[in-house]
Parts: sequence; structure tokens; C-alpha cells
Amino acid sequence: MEKLNPRSKIYIAGHRGMVGSAVARELKARGYQNLVSRTSQELDLTRQESVQEFFANEKPQIVVLAAAKVGGILANSQNLTEFLYQNLMIEMNVIRAAAEAGVKKLLFLGSSCIYPKLAPQPLKEEYLLTGALEPTNEAYAIAKIAGLKLTEYYNREQGRAFISAMPSNLYGPGDNYHPDHSHVIPGLIRRFHEAKLGDLPEVKVWGSGTPLREFLYVDDLARACVFLLESYDEPGFLNVGSGGEITIRDLASLIAKTVGFTGQITFDSTKPDGTPRKVMDSSKIRALGWKPQVSLEAGLSLAYQDFLGKSASI
Ligand code: GDP
Repeated sequence: MEKLNPRSKIYIAGHRGMVGSAVARELKARGYQNLVSRTSQELDLTRQESVQEFFANEKPQIVVLAAAKVGGILANSQNLTEFLYQNLMIEMNVIRAAAEAGVKKLLFLGSSCIYPKLAPQPLKEEYLLTGALEPTNEAYAIAKIAGLKLTEYYNREQGRAFISAMPSNLYGPGDNYHPDHSHVIPGLIRRFHEAKLGDLPEVKVWGSGTPLREFLYVDDLARACVFLLESYDEPGFLNVGSGGEITIRDLASLIAKTVGFTGQITFDSTKPDGTPRKVMDSSKIRALGWKPQVSLEAGLSLAYQDFLGKSASI
């Protein structure tokens, strides 16, 4: 087992993103003080030589790979080229440079969209690569599958403690509230909030409202990440989900309630639904001792507070 200690030098790739910043908060709260990071202006992770140079100079011992080009269903489905290329480059460069620089442990973060569109539910780890992917996030999923396989191969072939976690749909502080490019929770928080302020009679929710999704508050994922860094070295990846599912229709009502929007909710069928259902079986990580702590209701309230704190600058 690769042991972390409070002085371990930990590089968080993507420390300004929702996941990376939550992992940094959790590591600091747990007494890890030697965290290193670079902004994308300082270090372009799609450039192999820059990444190699960074690892050779900085020599981190532990790596959390949370850097990625991310987006909601529209951003993903309209930019397949960039979602595949940038994510693949970031992953290949960071994982390889980490191995070459002698990094002791690496945690790679993926997504539940790696699973086949029509796999049995709840999704077990072994359903990976048993069928065709959901087309709206195919490019992102292919990049994530390549990343998790590279960590697995390094682990199996070279005995390195390179591991991966696949979280379900995430939300929380540090989310992207862009009206079109964001995921459903931040997108709807913004739309309901603006409708409330503008006294609008209705809010349009994308798609049919029938898809089911599993949401995890990002601090719960961060606790899982630190837990895995401290206690798990096995090859292969682990699902990290809340276990709860909700339809987009019910989610929209809950967000309207959280925000205080009392008008009508309608559905825009010109927008895609994406995969019909995406709930993971997280029994493996639960059996190891992790469990989520934040309910969807409580998490939505915290997310809305985060949005309000930033809404002036959005
Ligand atoms: P996905 O899990 O990759 O599909 O992630 P998203 O968070 O982008 O979308 C989840 C579901 O919410 C899809 O069925 C969307 O059509 C639906 N949805 C409803 N309204 C919105 C919205 O305003 N933004 C986004 N991104 N999705 C929405």
C-alpha cells in the first residue's frame, strides 16, 4: 500500500475546476499541506513536453487527475472533436509523465458516461465495454475509457498504484453556471433564479423530463477520493455514486422549490434527452467503507448558495 503522509507532495491537475477544488479543500481539511497546482495558463496539459518538464522539475509524489474539458449534454454533443482530443491528450500526457517521473500513486477521475447506453442498471463496473455508447457523450466517454485503461495497465503491468474513480453526475460549489454549456443542475438553478427575479410565468426544461439521473454532491466525491488515495491501490476502477435516482421532471420541481420559483415548468422537446437512465452500483466502494453524506435537498441548497455568491459576476 502506498502510504500518504501530511508532507506528501500532491499535484492536483484541474485544481480550479469543481472536482479539483473540492479535492484540494478535503485534502487540506485532512491535514495534507503540500499541494501543488498550475493554472492552465501556466501549464497547458495538452502539450506533452510542457507536462514532462513540469513533472521533472516539480517531482510530485501523488497525482490527482481532475483536469478535463467538461460540459453538459449540448456542449458535449456539439464539440465531439475537442472533447475527444483535449481529454485524451491531457490524460495520456499526465499519466505517462507521472509514471516516468516515478509518481507513487495516481487517481484518475472519469464519469458514469463510460457505460454502454443500454447496459443493465444499476451499472456495475464489469459492464464496461459491453455495448455501444450514448452518442451525445461518446467522445468524452471514449477519452475517459482510454484514461481508465491506461491507469489500469500501468497498475497491472508495472505494479504502480494508479487507480480510477467513476463518479455519477456531479454538482456543487464551483460548478459552471453557463446557460447552454453547463450540466442540468447549475443550468436550471440559473434559469429558475433568473425567472424568479424577472417574474417570468414559465421555465423551459430541456428534453422530455423522463430521463433518470443519479446525482452526487462534489464534497462527497472529494471524501471518496481522499479515502481511495489513503487506502486503495488495486487495478481497475470503482463507481462512486449516491445510489439515489430522480427524473429530470422531479429534479426540476425540487430546484424550483429550492430557488423559490413558483411559475410553470414546461419541457422543450427540441433538446436532447441523452441516455434514458444512468444509475451506478457503488457497492464496491461502499463495502470498503465510503458512503455519501449529503442528501440531494441539502446539496441543492448549498449549490444555490454557491450560485448566489457568484451570480453578480456570472
Ligand atoms: P448528461 O447526464 O450527460 O445527459 O448530463 P446533463 O446534466 O447535461 O443532462 C442531464 C439531463 O437533464 C438530460 O436529459 C438533459 O436533457 C436534461 N436537462 C434539462 N434541462 C437542462 C439544462 O438546462 N441543461 C442541461 N445540461 N441539461 C438539461
